[in-house]
Amino acid sequence: MAGIDYLERIPNNVDLASNRRLQRALEEWQPRFLEWWRDMGPEGFQARDVYLRTAISVDAKGWAQFGYVKMPEYRWGIFLAEPETGRTIPFGDHKGRPVWQEVPGEYRGTLRRLIVTQGDTEPASVEQQRHLGRTCPSLYDLRNIFQVNVEEGRHLWAMVYLLQAYFGRDGREEAEGLLQRRSGDRDKPRILSAFNERTPHWLSYLMFTFFTDRDGKYQLACLAESGFDPLSRTCRFMLTEEAHHLFIGETGVSRVVQRTCELMREHKTDDVRKYGAIALATMQRYLNFHYSVSLDLFGSEVSTNAANFYTMSLKGRFEETKKDDDHQLKNATYRVAMLQGERIVEKDEPALPSLNERVRDDYIADCQRGVDRWNRIIREHGIDVELRLSRDRRLLGGPRLAGRARAQSGGMGRGQVPLAADGRGRGLHREPDEACDRAGKVRQLDRAARAGDQWPARRFRLRETGIGDTA
Ligand code: FE
Repeated sequence: MAGIDYLERIPNNVDLASNRRLQRALEEWQPRFLEWWRDMGPEGFQARDVYLRTAISVDAKGWAQFGYVKMPEYRWGIFLAEPETGRTIPFGDHKGRPVWQEVPGEYRGTLRRLIVTQGDTEPASVEQQRHLGRTCPSLYDLRNIFQVNVEEGRHLWAMVYLLQAYFGRDGREEAEGLLQRRSGDRDKPRILSAFNERTPHWLSYLMFTFFTDRDGKYQLACLAESGFDPLSRTCRFMLTEEAHHLFIGETGVSRVVQRTCELMREHKTDDVRKYGAIALATMQRYLNFHYSVSLDLFGSEVSTNAANFYTMSLKGRFEETKKDDDHQLKNATYRVAMLQGERIVEKDEPALPSLNERVRDDYIADCQRGVDRWNRIIREHGIDVELRLSRDRRLLGGPRLAGRARAQSGGMGRGQVPLAADGRGRGLHREPDEACDRAGKVRQLDRAARAGDQWPARRFRLRETGIGDTA
């Protein structure tokens, strides 16, 4: 069961061959997916051999195989984590009953929407990142971005499998829609706004993989708790791949911070642009932007939708099964920070409608751990500046104020980098910081990455702008 049959046209571990109708539906969708990939996948590298990992099993150990593949020939397929025998629904009104192997009829529309919304983010990020190969700072980074891209493509397959297998004609239509919307398109945008933003350079990409892919981790973790077992198993396997995307963001920004600090010390200035590095203040601006749009992905602070998803046993909390309460939360409360007039107050709110806030809090704590690691690098260089996650959305210029604004320790912190007037990032792309645009060329990323890289340099040539396609 764990093994994946690569002799099949669509590699899978769901015994696709025994379901002719589904197999045919997916085989019809496959060429359209490939068409989308050729149009919207990584630009300029489609004909190149790329060193990629491909899933060959869903076992915890040894599930990946590495080798050279042309991206359009990547073996996208359908891989679900192993079923847990005797699994019961962990939360909500149906808690304790056996998990569903079919869609519960009364929740059909809601469940479909959840799957489509998750599915839509996967191709969106590929579209957002498609130009970045051209300005890649190193082979290491190039290989990683393509790995991320093909895996996001596979995550799209995962959601499309669920739609095609369990939602009949509606599912087929949604599967088409996922290939028709385009990130940033005025007429047919992607569903969530963070996935319509531009990712114009590598600093932006690294922040995206840190902040926005981390939102993905939390959404997938909540869906992995679902009473609808096929969704749970799909998301559990997707999470194993997502971890690598987060690693890219955190270590990538670490490298940028490291080099900036080295140059700040060497030249005794914080204006390191002329030395080809990115100023900490610039990093803070991009951090604000990506953090802010990612926070928005968790939805409103008070949400009947979130309450319903939970009560219906469709979408749980982060680490639901590890929590020690009744997993129904009918009478429970949760402490939410709210803006009252000009003051931020904390109030106990009913737990169910506050579920978005609760997951967002988990997310924020997770982000903070990463930012702490970046700040440690800055401190180790004896620099008295701190990168900060502002909890006050007024500083971030976010769209909503209500409730999202958080208790601040008050004013600017020690040596804090001031936020840009429009800290949310509007205008950042219109008047690009020169240093940011050069992020792709900055050799600082290169140096850290070069050691031990197995990429065959002969397939590429170095250009002044970085590593490009020889085509
Ligand atoms: Fe993904």
